[in-house]
Amino acid sequence: MKKTLKDIDVRNKKVIVRCDFNVPLDDDGNITDDTRIVGALPTIEYLLAENASIILMSHLGRPKGEANPKYSLAPVAADISKKIGREVIFKSVPEVVNAEVKEIAAGLKSGEVLLLENTRFRKEEEKNGEDFAKELSDLAEVFVNDAFGAAHRAHSSTAGISAYLPTVSGFLIEKELNFLGHALENPARPFVAIMGGSKVSDKIKVIESLLSKADTLLIGGGMMFTFLKAEGLEVGKSILDEEGLELAGQLIKLAREKGVTLLLPVDVKAADAFDNDSPADIYSIDEIPADRMGLDIGPKTAELFASEIASSGTVLWNGPMGVFELPNFAAGTKAVAEAMAANEKAVTIIGGGDSAAAVSQFGLADRMSHVSTGGGASLEFIENGTLPCIEVIADK
Ligand code: AMP
Repeated sequence: MKKTLKDIDVRNKKVIVRCDFNVPLDDDGNITDDTRIVGALPTIEYLLAENASIILMSHLGRPKGEANPKYSLAPVAADISKKIGREVIFKSVPEVVNAEVKEIAAGLKSGEVLLLENTRFRKEEEKNGEDFAKELSDLAEVFVNDAFGAAHRAHSSTAGISAYLPTVSGFLIEKELNFLGHALENPARPFVAIMGGSKVSDKIKVIESLLSKADTLLIGGGMMFTFLKAEGLEVGKSILDEEGLELAGQLIKLAREKGVTLLLPVDVKAADAFDNDSPADIYSIDEIPADRMGLDIGPKTAELFASEIASSGTVLWNGPMGVFELPNFAAGTKAVAEAMAANEKAVTIIGGGDSAAAVSQFGLADRMSHVSTGGGASLEFIENGTLPCIEVIADK
């Protein structure tokens, strides 16, 4: 077990918190989805209640080590300020930390909040540079890591800094570990894992790892065609991951050896082109026309998957069942989300990324036990059972 905020004394202390404020912005710099900011609030509010002085930091986008106003955290400062009902001091300097920022941090009083500029404005950040880590650590007495979405990358502000400060997790990381960790170590059974998305080769290790833990594995999305092809079926113009073809065959074999029920779709919705308005029909998987591409699972598959989900104790889902961004090919993804929402007895976990976007699009996020805030991070956690930035948090 990792130490959390509640395991140490933060009262009246100066605390530096790494959050994941990597939020989407529109062309005018408005935040279009504040889920990640909302996710950080329990930690911030607890620290305020403890009269700590709070220094927040995060990356945003990929400024590649250069100060770029497009990636400034200024809109985030304004949004947090509105949410917590008090001023968030924000000093946008290209160095992130300079003499002025050090002075503000040194003079920060109890209950005051300072947000640093995008940590990726500094070249050293992504190289886990020690000097930058030390500069950040010098601003505070305690380091709280609450950036689950960035926990799979050891950078100065996520891992390096912990060499110089006592390190605990915030409440968001604690919640992620409770749900993901529990699902992998001691799941209520049957444990049904659902994988989708476009490519198999991206998720091969995750699937392999799930085959040692899950009772049933449901495969949908673009990756289903690589599995179907590996089973000797023709998939027409559907997306095919040549690189992953042999691996898909091996995974099917491994599932059999391990006694895991691996279910592939029995029907698909296939269209002439990757276009919402393209003519499309439902086909059994052994009848996909040579000139059409499968863009969603079909209704029989949706029913089959929903019935597996209905009788499960734990469901872990990563990757859409079809091209859910196009309304005509969103039905399969929606059916899976609805079946998860309907099973109130099961622990239902959305593994971040596109599936998180999908459940939020369908208005079902609140009906899940947990929606992970980390796409890449949750996949790596499922694969390895830990992450580089979790490792540096002190044990209880
Ligand atoms: P990934 O990033 O690998 O999780 O893939 C997510 C993307 O896969 C989404 O943008 C979906 O639109 C896409 N996708 C899902 N099903 C299909 C499909 N049958 N053909 C092509 N792309 C798909």
